[in-house]
Amino acid sequence: MDNFEPATGKVYGEIPLSGKEDVESAIRAAGMAFPAWSKTGIRERSRILLRIADLIMEKLDELALAESTDNGKPVSLATEVDIPRAAQNFEFFATAIQQFASESHANPGKNVHYTLRQPLGIVTCISPWNLPLYLFTWKIAPALAAGNCVIAKPSEVTPMSAYLLAGICMEAGLPPGVLNILHGTGPDCGAAMVAHPDVKAISFTGSTRAGREIASVAAPQLKKLSLELGGKNPVLIFDDCDYDLMLQETVRAAFSNQGQICLCGSRLYIQDTIYEKFREDFVEKIRQMRVGDPRSVDTNIGAVVSEAHLGKIFEYLRIAAEEGGRVLCGGERVTPEGRCAEGYFVQPVVVEGLPNDCRTNQEEIFGPVVTIQPFHSEEEVLAMANDSSYGLASVIWTRHLSRAHRLSETMQSGLVWVNCWMERDLRTPFGGMKNSGVGREGGWEALRFFTEPKNVTIQY
Ligand code: NAD
Repeated sequence: MDNFEPATGKVYGEIPLSGKEDVESAIRAAGMAFPAWSKTGIRERSRILLRIADLIMEKLDELALAESTDNGKPVSLATEVDIPRAAQNFEFFATAIQQFASESHANPGKNVHYTLRQPLGIVTCISPWNLPLYLFTWKIAPALAAGNCVIAKPSEVTPMSAYLLAGICMEAGLPPGVLNILHGTGPDCGAAMVAHPDVKAISFTGSTRAGREIASVAAPQLKKLSLELGGKNPVLIFDDCDYDLMLQETVRAAFSNQGQICLCGSRLYIQDTIYEKFREDFVEKIRQMRVGDPRSVDTNIGAVVSEAHLGKIFEYLRIAAEEGGRVLCGGERVTPEGRCAEGYFVQPVVVEGLPNDCRTNQEEIFGPVVTIQPFHSEEEVLAMANDSSYGLASVIWTRHLSRAHRLSETMQSGLVWVNCWMERDLRTPFGGMKNSGVGREGGWEALRFFTEPKNVTIQY
């Protein structure tokens, strides 16, 4: 399968289209490796994972360039965020597994119940294209730390950093068969991985559509499932917020990674008292963003991931216009001079004047497109924010302490950020409500997901 560089629109590599037979051979390798890996001491497993983390950081520049070439994101973003976070994922779970405890419940004079948490066996991890190595490792690291053998697949759209990770894992001394990375499409390779009877659990991040398909195959086989799916995240801006900080962070929340982060804020609700000012300042800032070659240090916005995705974004701009939206800025295709002339670039877009229930405000676009709407009261904005089939993340900007608590309690989302965006502590549960998924990743949640709790009762 051709692999395109989104910034140039040109093929720069080929990836294998693995299918059922490759999945079978990966399962065999994993099955052979499992008895030894699951009995490898925790300190030894931890040591290998820490070595992987170190090697990722040693190869930071190479990996960041590969990630940017594959995905279109600015190299600076991959260098500052994606790749260091991939290393942190290994580092975090390498140390977390050393602290992972199981429960014991004593009934004095009678018995004691304790819980053994054992690795599941062979598990599958499937990830999307938007944060390729970051999300791939977020799944693989806890699965390996807990003693499982993993069959993993990156998105066929961005396979390069996962391919490089395979080399790093070998260099770090991860035994053969413990991690098996397959490349190929969702319907062929991914579906075979999910359906295989030897796979005990599936950790999936991607679209709600694919998540539903996976659940329909996995549920009848009673496999464990963690689904991290789409989002359409609201940002609630009150007039008592720290305005300058809010403005800076709202731009970041809207357009980081070309708006292709499941956590990006795409529905912005602004209190009517500051709506006019916000609109002017926000649009001004967006106009200053430089769209262009992801390898240039000046670039704020790189290429979107594929020609098909660019087409999807333009289709939503057509829908927004049809629904009565006014484009305040952006929406034009950008054709930089030089090597990126045929890349997939678009000016970031701000739309106003749309009702909450229209498609533009309800469907996930997953690109550099946001809508802005004024609101009058807390009740009104809460109703609009929660009026969504998704429930991944929400952002609240206010200095009113009680309001922050009140809204955090009532927002229908798995994550709530107050006066910040994308602040993450890897110990906390991560995931969404409603159509944004089921299950949680992160911290102990991930280690619990990748282990089978067995209760033992000892009667005196
Ligand atoms: P996608 O669902 O098209 O693909 C994701 C992965 O699943 C790919 O590796 C793909 O090959 C595979 N896949 C597709 N169909 C499959 C099937 N039937 N069986 C097994 N595997 C299958 O998603 P995408 O376009 O790569 O990523 C964008 C989506 O991911 C957006 O909806 C975004 O919100 C979501 N996302 C969610 C989170 C989160 O944490 N909730 C994080 C990042 C991205």
